[in-house]
Amino acid sequence: MTKTHCPYCSLQCGMSLERAGRELEVQPWAEFPVNEGALCRKGWTATGLRGHRERLTTPLVRDRATGELRAAGWEEALDLVAGRLRDLRSSYGADAVAVFGGGGLTNEKAYQLGKLARVALGTSQVDYNGRWCMSSAASASNRAFGIDRGLPFPLADIEHTDVLVLVGSNLVETMPPAARHLDRLRENGGHVVVIDPRRTPTADRADTFLQPVPGTDLPIALGLLHLLDAAGAVDEEYVAARTTGWEDVRRAAASWWPERVERVTGVDAAQLRDMGTLLAGAAKVTVLTARGAEQHAQGTDTVLAWIDVALALGMPGRPNAGYGCLTGQGNGQGGREHGQKADQLPGYRMIDDPVAREHVARVWGVPVESVPGKGRSAYELLDALGTDGGPKALLVFGSNIVVSAPNATHVRSRLDDLDLLVVSDIVLSETAAIADVVLPVTQWAEETGTMTNLEGRVILRQQAVAPPEGVRSDLDVMAGLAARLGHDFATDPEEVFAELGRASAGGRADYSEITYDRIREEHGVFWAGPRLFAEAFAHDDGRARFVAVEHRGPAEPVDAAYPLHLTTGRVLAQYQSGAQTRRVRELPDDGPFVELHPMLAQRIGAYDGEPVVITTRRGELKAPARVVDTIRPDTVFVPFHWVGANRLTNDALDPSSRMPEFKVCACAVTMVVSR
Ligand code: SF4
Repeated sequence: MTKTHCPYCSLQCGMSLERAGRELEVQPWAEFPVNEGALCRKGWTATGLRGHRERLTTPLVRDRATGELRAAGWEEALDLVAGRLRDLRSSYGADAVAVFGGGGLTNEKAYQLGKLARVALGTSQVDYNGRWCMSSAASASNRAFGIDRGLPFPLADIEHTDVLVLVGSNLVETMPPAARHLDRLRENGGHVVVIDPRRTPTADRADTFLQPVPGTDLPIALGLLHLLDAAGAVDEEYVAARTTGWEDVRRAAASWWPERVERVTGVDAAQLRDMGTLLAGAAKVTVLTARGAEQHAQGTDTVLAWIDVALALGMPGRPNAGYGCLTGQGNGQGGREHGQKADQLPGYRMIDDPVAREHVARVWGVPVESVPGKGRSAYELLDALGTDGGPKALLVFGSNIVVSAPNATHVRSRLDDLDLLVVSDIVLSETAAIADVVLPVTQWAEETGTMTNLEGRVILRQQAVAPPEGVRSDLDVMAGLAARLGHDFATDPEEVFAELGRASAGGRADYSEITYDRIREEHGVFWAGPRLFAEAFAHDDGRARFVAVEHRGPAEPVDAAYPLHLTTGRVLAQYQSGAQTRRVRELPDDGPFVELHPMLAQRIGAYDGEPVVITTRRGELKAPARVVDTIRPDTVFVPFHWVGANRLTNDALDPSSRMPEFKVCACAVTMVVSR
């Protein structure tokens, strides 16, 4: 029996893996505090990819004569990649090679990927798909608190808050074991508020449900600040002692009276007033944001506005209260701490910080001048591929860009313009299928490594079975490439973790005191402790920052040609781009659908189950209509686990986090006329 964790989302539920003959069975691990033995359908079926007929077990190289992928040996594949990278570097410079990582990679891989880019390849062009996940919340938290840890408290603390406000989170469907916290909170007399354009299963468990127009979470927060101020409910003592900037926020919120909020958001003014009264009377309020609030071209400002609400009430740092972000990907937190981001070095330190550069260069054993500076953010990097001055080669680890990138048709054309695309994956994902070289790697139960869950709890995934013959770990792949480029990289995960600890020492996310043994003994170890901000925030003066923001609205407003709002999201049985879960037999794979309100369906003549076409300025998708009264009549929803949804989405970026606006754009829907 091996104690480990689920391969999917940021809850990182504990599970036991037991051998049953040639099979591997998932069993509950009741003592692990995050999920207490509970798993969702994805967790229970997580071994479904083991031995899958589509599992890759040999490197693949695209044959120049036939254009097809053919089997190759590891030496041939790695020699070919290293040789082409050397050639491209000498022709175009080091930044001709780019590296793209993932928020599902272990901490060790994320660390090693940043080192591979900056030490072995000498390129500044490294970023990862977590930029598209929680980066707006990260940017806002750094600005407001001086540090970014998704939840600065254990998730179970929400059971003891008085009012929980979920902004753009569907946690009942996306991380079902966490739903028990909502039930316990309500048993304890607490009140749950859900804000979402769709009445999701999470909204069904709410006491208050606000259903705004997509992209208008920010003015709701401004309206609440207006009401709290007018009611004298701002915690003036806390604001004076622990924060700066309140007067600017007070001025920014002054013009957001409830009727104006109603005009912009569609949320009834009376309902907003009731919510203001509810917050004003609560001793403990917790605000949690997720992708619905964050994946916008104004995502950082939206999160800042909700942090302003929490600060005005005096909540952050108080027991069972405060602000947090519900990270999405399995290692969404750790993935952003160890240096696979374009602007960061290990320890969550900025790459232009001279002290950080000196420290990390020392650990890496390289001259500080050789460490490249800031590179392009994830979408900007992809947008530059194959262009004059842009990267000519891309190495992809743990990401399925063809499905998950916004404005995906354009991104696909950029990938097609590359001289070399190398993808490391366990199956032939949509991105691997167009690569020049595919490197087959181990999956979660076949390797050991740490992840950092949404609470900042560092956990250990332990190897339960040997990998199939022919595959190697990502760490082996990186070391193999580094060796061919003249660098010696460790391959043992515990050794890499110890190096990561040294590199992160003194940084904002300091792992130097964490060891594999401690993680085993303590059921995970929180970096910086389980609860932050009780005494001080992480800014030099110990104070949190209010930040005044104004509502700009979605980058692409609706108009006569595209009169509806499109929003995207997840379904229970699938995870991210679906490269893994779509291949698990026990998980239903119904394909994409277009969710729309009966009034809209009637207007366009669509019927439940019949195909409709959804069109945006970037592309179109034909999929069956799912007619439900749980969505706003002016909004349609498409899940993003299949090719198609992101052909529609807008690549407008948040100026601070560089988050694309996945969650809203203008669209039109028509029914398909059969001939
Ligand atoms: Fe896995 Fe997330 Fe489901 Fe837990 S909630 S079993 S971590 S997918």
